[in-house]
Amino acid sequence: MSVRTRFAPSPTGALHIGSVRTALFSYLFARHHGGAFVLRIEDTDRERSTAESVRDILESLGWLGLAWDEGPYHQSERMALYRARAEALVAAGAAYRCWCTPEELEARRQAARAAGRRPIYDRTCRERTAPPAGRTDHALRFRTPLAGETVIDDHVKDRVVFQNAELDDFIIVRSDGVPVYNFCVVVDDHDMRITHVIRGDDLLASTPRQVLLYRALGATPPEFAHVPQILGPDKDRLSKRHGATSVLAYRDMGYLPDAVVNYLARLGWSHGDQELFSREELIAHFSLENVGKSAGIFNPEKLEWVNFQYMKATPAPALADLLAPFLERAGLPVPADRAWLARVVETLRERAKTLVELAEFCRFYLVDAITPDPTAAARHLTAAVAPALADLRQRLAALPRWDATAIEGAFQATLAAHGLKLGALAQPVRVAVTGGTVSPGIYEVLDVLGRERTLARLAAAMPRP
Ligand code: GLU
Repeated sequence: MSVRTRFAPSPTGALHIGSVRTALFSYLFARHHGGAFVLRIEDTDRERSTAESVRDILESLGWLGLAWDEGPYHQSERMALYRARAEALVAAGAAYRCWCTPEELEARRQAARAAGRRPIYDRTCRERTAPPAGRTDHALRFRTPLAGETVIDDHVKDRVVFQNAELDDFIIVRSDGVPVYNFCVVVDDHDMRITHVIRGDDLLASTPRQVLLYRALGATPPEFAHVPQILGPDKDRLSKRHGATSVLAYRDMGYLPDAVVNYLARLGWSHGDQELFSREELIAHFSLENVGKSAGIFNPEKLEWVNFQYMKATPAPALADLLAPFLERAGLPVPADRAWLARVVETLRERAKTLVELAEFCRFYLVDAITPDPTAAARHLTAAVAPALADLRQRLAALPRWDATAIEGAFQATLAAHGLKLGALAQPVRVAVTGGTVSPGIYEVLDVLGRERTLARLAAAMPRP
């Protein structure tokens, strides 16, 4: 039997970073076993489902490179099928029609609460064979066994035992004809031959109902792995209060997709104490046994650290391509010469934690002219250093070739002629060409910036002696 997993998001908002982690686990598990990963959009709730959210889900998975092998299936296109299956359950006696009106149900719930009983459906229609006079509207309810246990041997939670007497005769098709989640999910997981359901543990309470439905449909339930939720640093469920929660927000903040995948994989799963994994390693090592039993705490600093490691490890040309849209967004010109942009990136890559930061660091290379920071200028572009700067500029202008070694030669000659130490010249040059006091090595910077811009910036910043 080959492994088949699925990701079944409800398109009712931007894809949450916590949900996508269960998608990642499903994807890794399928890939590890050479199986298939299915995408299913659970859009039966017409009011809350939006096309925009579907687009967001597809874009998020695409960005993270979580390629699905089948789908996306849409539950909204399968409604007739769910109704037919539900009718078949009624015909087989596993489900029944419930003609109780909303008002009756509410009155009984209130009475139950007042009497200190659980306000669950009182099974009025369970033994009815015909509608009360004049009633046509009805829901379909599952005939839950009144006794016995439903046992789930979960890959993460281990053995979980539910008493059937605690469950109610839940609705499978509402009176408006709309089938409910618990029913659709079982029909689909069955039809789509899903072998392993990996999902958030917020759905564990629904699982006994789903297992009972499988049996009623004459099917064997899949295996389950209920993964603990991701919490914020204050141990509350990760939410907007803790910062960005949508997947695409992390793309827009300049994180690399592979870094996000790596970080999320480690959040609730481990392989010894290894922190950094290539995609191939994640696939090779992933197992449900090593999914943690306790909730993962979302740690933005660690995500930043992982991203930094990926930025350092990504070859400069690839990083340049990833950077281009961020330059555009920062209002910077995107150089047509990608090889040159790769050189720019090469000088800065070990300094930036995100692509947004890297774009900012690139600014001085890309704009025509810069304005030195006034404080740095006052401190470093002094009248005293003006003769050495002018001299350096001339030597640079006269260099037969423009590269870091030649540039270093011009610096050395200038330092010797003026009896200066490197810092006394390098810092003013840095302020003049980059605008600030922190940059990569000055020879490298001038080399990449090019002769024309270097000379123009030195001239523009030249202190009056
Ligand atoms: N559509 C459900 C949700 O987004 C998940 C269904 C499932 O994984 O069983 O909460």
